[in-house]
Amino acid sequence: MKFDVLTIFPEMFSSFLRFGVLGRAIENELVDVGLVNIRDFAKGAHKTTDDRPYGGGEGMVMKAGPIHRALNSVERVNGRSLVALLCPQGKRLDQPTAWELSNWDQLILICGRYEGVDERIRLTSIDRELSIGDYVLSGGELGAMVLMEVISRLIPGVLGGERSNIEDSFEEGLLEYPQYTRPRVFQEKEVPPVLLSGDHEKIRLWRRRASLKRTALKRPDLLANAGLTSEDERILQEIKKDSEGP
Ligand code: SAM
Repeated sequence: MKFDVLTIFPEMFSSFLRFGVLGRAIENELVDVGLVNIRDFAKGAHKTTDDRPYGGGEGMVMKAGPIHRALNSVERVNGRSLVALLCPQGKRLDQPTAWELSNWDQLILICGRYEGVDERIRLTSIDRELSIGDYVLSGGELGAMVLMEVISRLIPGVLGGERSNIEDSFEEGLLEYPQYTRPRVFQEKEVPPVLLSGDHEKIRLWRRRASLKRTALKRPDLLANAGLTSEDERILQEIKKDSEGP
């Protein structure tokens, strides 16, 4: 996967790209990240990348020219590349969208600033608008980081074991079960004995039940699309009965 990020603040990415899962993926050449400074494509002595909005009003707008030239400077990988604008008005990122995006060979991410980018960029150069949530950030850089982090985890080999993300929250439409590590007792709270039993089937059932219970409590909206089995339905009935009990 190749990510190319167009931004006026490439320095924001320097430590982000060095650490954790993504840092390792870059080191192992499973992911490649190119940073393009939009300012390098601005004209004039001041290298201005923004200007006042036509029609008046608050704030500044990112000029189309520098972004357009920056975009043209990016080498396309295999013709399987997608240009996405980080934008609060775009499709909200979720796990299925992340999976879909992970199938592209190259994602070119444009980070807006100020009041956003000149509409002509949206009209001429964008395949997709992507939002990371229903709130407004001051720039697209954090959004680009979120996208790169979420998508990299889905690329084969990045997490090491092939199965390591399969049980993550949202992967099967449910929230993940609770996790414990040493010590066995912390602040008088013990690890559930079943997790120490070594009985894999019992552990699987306990985790499934915990996953269903958490989802029913915290995100009941997810259950409708979770593809529940008849065993899941039975467990949910039990959970419901228990919660109604004395
Ligand atoms: N005036 C714009 C609007 O109301 O739609 C918001 C501009 S925002 C202050 C500046 C930039 O931050 C945007 O161009 C976009 O790149 C980025 N941004 C803000 N919120 C975002 C979100 N929820 N998801 C992705 N990018 C976002």
